[in-house]
Parts: sequence; structure tokens; C-alpha cells
Amino acid sequence: MITLTHKFRLYPNKQQNEKLLWTLNKCRETYNFLLSELQRQKVIDRSQIQGIIPDLKICEPELKQVYSKTLQYECYQLFSNLKALSQLKKHNRKIGRLRFKGTNWFKTFTYNQSGFKLINGGKRCQLLHLSKIGDIKIRCHRNINGKIKQITVKRESSGKWFALIIEEKKEKIRKNHFKQIVGIDLGLENFIYDSEKNKIKNPRHLNEHTNKLIKLQRKLSKKQKKSKNRIKARVKVAKQYEKIINNRNDFLHKLSRFYANNYDVIVLENLQVINLARGKYLSKSIYDASWSRFRQFLTYKAESAGKLLLFVDPKGTTKRCSQCGNNVKKEIWHRTHKCSYCNLKIERDYNSALEIKKLGLQQIGQGLSKFKPVEIALTGNSLSSSHQFEKQEALLE
Ligand SMILES: [Zn+2]
Repeated sequence: MITLTHKFRLYPNKQQNEKLLWTLNKCRETYNFLLSELQRQKVIDRSQIQGIIPDLKICEPELKQVYSKTLQYECYQLFSNLKALSQLKKHNRKIGRLRFKGTNWFKTFTYNQSGFKLINGGKRCQLLHLSKIGDIKIRCHRNINGKIKQITVKRESSGKWFALIIEEKKEKIRKNHFKQIVGIDLGLENFIYDSEKNKIKNPRHLNEHTNKLIKLQRKLSKKQKKSKNRIKARVKVAKQYEKIINNRNDFLHKLSRFYANNYDVIVLENLQVINLARGKYLSKSIYDASWSRFRQFLTYKAESAGKLLLFVDPKGTTKRCSQCGNNVKKEIWHRTHKCSYCNLKIERDYNSALEIKKLGLQQIGQGLSKFKPVEIALTGNSLSSSHQFEKQEALLE
């Protein structure tokens, strides 16, 4: 089973546009109301929160104009936000509580499982039927033959509407269709380590530029407020930042192009939160952004090249032995994977990449192929260089 997400532009007429806006707002109000109820609870009781929606509809009959499952989805959304927040807390990020959403911060509502239909009206004319809203013109630049699991309607800040369609394909893929499969582990020591043993270090120039940025920012903070020098310093900071972004994007474009060109299936971890050192490192935020940018680039490049991009559950990928499945505990500064069960000894990131590839293969139903990773003798050098940094990471865990 494969899950694909498509993003198609919607072209609502004036009336539909208003209805979409109205629905979005009702969903937002419902979300905020559920959140206020949640905050009142001393012990979190999900079923009680869920039970509020029917009561809400009695108090506010207007809400019946919103598809019922769409409203219910707000409850699901609330709890998944709560979960994401507790994940962040676990990873030592400084965060507050869930926030109430203002109009500009609430951009989507969702039809899950039902309440929608994609209608094919001949050439280029397609309609998306959304229950309680109507048939909206949609431009599908890609055929959908699988089962549609969910549709999320999104309003971009520009005012444009999009449908994010999640398609599930049951059909097994012909074995020979995907010849080249690669699993990719993203990290800090190596930006990329893949299951083909391609290892790409974080580009050094990025670090150098980042250090310069830190210096410039420090200078800026010492300048007197509203002074000419402060303005100059700010321009310098902005320029340096732009330089970093341009450099980084250039690097990421080349890298994602490489994978989209050379592999049929690319498997990545589905990481929402990347567990890393924070605080001291400004570079941290840049790395963070780099990974999500890399995914973004890869997503559209893979899509336009007709390649398959898969995301797998990151749980356990660093621990599990890629050869025998045994869990091997390691501290974050351990760079080698040493399995006591099958005696596999390979680099830590390589083991993760193989494991990620394996999960990807399972996802597309190609089962387990036999991996025989070659042993790598680790040089003392590569261990010590990463040691210090990783140690700091570990302290924050
Ligand atoms: Zn093993």
C-alpha cells in the first residue's frame, strides 16, 4: 500500500469562496472552543472533549452547515497538536501551551474518509464535490486512480485555495518497476548517509558563513538603537543571511536532483521533530530548515520525474540492527553500530539508512531483500571528530 499526497488548485466561484471562508471560520471557532475546554480539564479526557461537538450543534444550529466529520476532525487535530507539543517538550525545546488560533493562523479544514467526491467532467473540467459546500472547480494535473482517503482544503495567505488529496494505492507495484531503491538518513555529522554508502558531509562553507552571521548579529546588537550604524549593520546581517540561504539552496538543489535522477524509490524518515542540540547553536535552525527544504525539493523533483518518495516511521531506526532486527542500544556519541547478536559492525548512520530502506521496501510490498552490508573499519579519526559535538547533543536529551 502506498500513500501519495497531491496538491491541486481549487477555483471556487464567489459564493463558494464565501462558503469556504465561512466553514474555515466555523472550524476555527470549534477548534478554539475545544481547546478552551481542554485547558479547563485537570485530567485530560479525550472522550469528554469529543462529546462537546454534538452539544455545540444544539447551541449553535448553524454548525450543522458544516460537514459533521469535518467538525469532528478538529478534535482529532487538537489532540494531535497536543501530542506534537509533548514530543517537543520531550526533546527539550522551550515551548508553551497550545495557542488559540487567530484567523491568519488557521488555514485548513479536512474531510476524512467521506463527504467528498472527485467528479470527472470531461477534458480538463473536473469538479470536487464537498458535502455542505458544493462542486468546486479543481485543476488536477495528475490522475488519481487509487482510493482517496482524505481531502484537506487549504487557504494560502495569498487567498488561493488548494485541495490536498491523500490517495491510497492498494495495487502492488511490479517488482521490476523500481530497480533502484535508496534509504536516506539525515543527520548532523553527515548531512546525508544513504544505503548505497553515499556520504555527504554538511557543507563546510555553510558553517563558515553561519559563523560570520553570528558575529554580524553580535555587532548589530551592540549598536545604538535608531542609529545609522545600526541600520548599516542590519543590512549586513540580512545580506549575510541571504548568502547562506542561496548557498544552501544551491547545495540542496544539486543533492535532491542527484537522488531524483538516480533512484526510482527514495525512502526518508518521516521526522516532524528533529532531535538536536539547540540554544547555543544558531546553526541549529539552519540545519533544521535545510532538512525540511531538502524534503521539499526532493518531493517535487521526485514527483515530476515520476519517482516514488516514501516516508517511514523513524521509531527505532537508529537502534535496530539492519541485518537481524536486534535492538542495539547506543548513546548518541556512539558512531558505530555493533550488534552482539549477529556481529554486524558498521557505521551508525549507514545502519540507519539500511533500516530506512528496509522499511520502505516493506511499505511497497517488496518484502525483505537480503542485505549484506560490508564491514567498515572505523578509523579513530572519524570517531573523535564527531565526539564532542554529539556529546553536547546527548546532554540535552
Ligand atoms: Zn544484528
